[in-house]
Amino acid sequence: MTYDVVVIGAGAAGLMCALTAGYAGRRVLVIDHANKAGKKILMSGGGRCNFTNMATTPANFFSGNPHFCISALKRYRPEHFVELVERHAIDYVEKAPGQLFCADSAKQIVAMLLTECDWAGVEVALKTSVTRVERCGEGMRLLTSQGVIEAGAVVVACGGLSIPTMGASGFGYDIARQFGLAVTETRPALVPFTLTSQWKARANDLAGVACEVSVHCRRDGRRHGNYREPLLFTHRGLSGPAMLQISSYWQPGDELEIDLMPEVDVPSALAAARRDTPRRQLVTWLSEHLPRRLATAIGEWYGESPTLAQLSNAELEAWQQRLSAWRIKPAGTEGWRTAEVTLGGVDTQAISSKTFAVDDLPQLRFIGEVLDVTGELGGYNFQWAWASGVACGQSL
Ligand code: FAD
Repeated sequence: MTYDVVVIGAGAAGLMCALTAGYAGRRVLVIDHANKAGKKILMSGGGRCNFTNMATTPANFFSGNPHFCISALKRYRPEHFVELVERHAIDYVEKAPGQLFCADSAKQIVAMLLTECDWAGVEVALKTSVTRVERCGEGMRLLTSQGVIEAGAVVVACGGLSIPTMGASGFGYDIARQFGLAVTETRPALVPFTLTSQWKARANDLAGVACEVSVHCRRDGRRHGNYREPLLFTHRGLSGPAMLQISSYWQPGDELEIDLMPEVDVPSALAAARRDTPRRQLVTWLSEHLPRRLATAIGEWYGESPTLAQLSNAELEAWQQRLSAWRIKPAGTEGWRTAEVTLGGVDTQAISSKTFAVDDLPQLRFIGEVLDVTGELGGYNFQWAWASGVACGQSL
């Protein structure tokens, strides 16, 4: 079998690249070892797929080579994907500023991509594994469970390592290494934190409680990252958008510094409350600013619940610290099992940011999450998948 292009990975980037190359008149085959295309799209955004973020800029991405993503993001913008979604009459909602989700189901995005692939004449081979990729003259040869396939170009769109049960594998990194490309250190990101036993029990008691916080990561006395988003206590530890976002900065041993009342100037508000309402209980004051279960729990964690008048200046200061700069050292993260993305990946230094071709080997390309380009939470990762897929597909 011979194709102009074989794409390995029927995920977001792979399907987008395939349909773009198909419309450009290329004979395209997409191969995936999973039994369904776009499994991560299906589970994304709680089943509704946060398919883009209208405010996407290169600053929303982590990479050892921060300029790499600029060209593709500039050429294929969120409005382009929205236009595609609208052409397929898929209703969508803006859940948070800029974050667009399907109003109904993520299945519609997968169906849209597969329909476009069909219209573009792309063939999709599921449940097909690739055992080897090798150079073959000016093209490439793949050894697969369906036999030998020759291709003018191979596009590696295997994604990252998160959620192995959904088909994630390190195959894209293996191919990169085989052809002499570097792979930067990979880490699970956009992932909840686990806690040591005492804090785990406390989080467990509060499971389901959420509140808006501002969070930094602390390492060597310095702050890294800053997000103001909801924190969610769970049976296993700390989750919610604030924790997922800051996990992209977190390294083992780091502390989190959490402002539990980012909208309140805690030092002056607490001092004013002691002065104006001295007989009020501290927990009553706390529950005006925090969910009641959390206010009560914090009161218990740090001792008796005195009246505000009973607080000494030193105690007042300690409370200010706890509330506006609560420090906690996570035990770890939930890891690849639940991480939404992989930080790190195929080093982009030897890859064209315009065509995604490997320098000196234009018949081999890498797109999407397998590359060392990782977005923040909020639809950026899909925008990268679409943009890198289109840029590569147009150049094939
Ligand atoms: P993938 O979509 O992961 O596709 C890779 C494909 O390659 C898969 O189909 C896989 O089966 C296949 N593959 C892997 N190894 C092989 C192999 N050896 N042989 C053949 N095929 C192989 N991002 C957002 O922007 N918004 C969201 O709402 C969002 N929600 C998410 C929720 C969850 C739970 C998860 C896990 C991720 C979420 N993401 C979200 C991230 C987003 O899904 C990914 O960044 C995106 O899917 C990456 O696209 P990709 O095409 O590069 O890789």
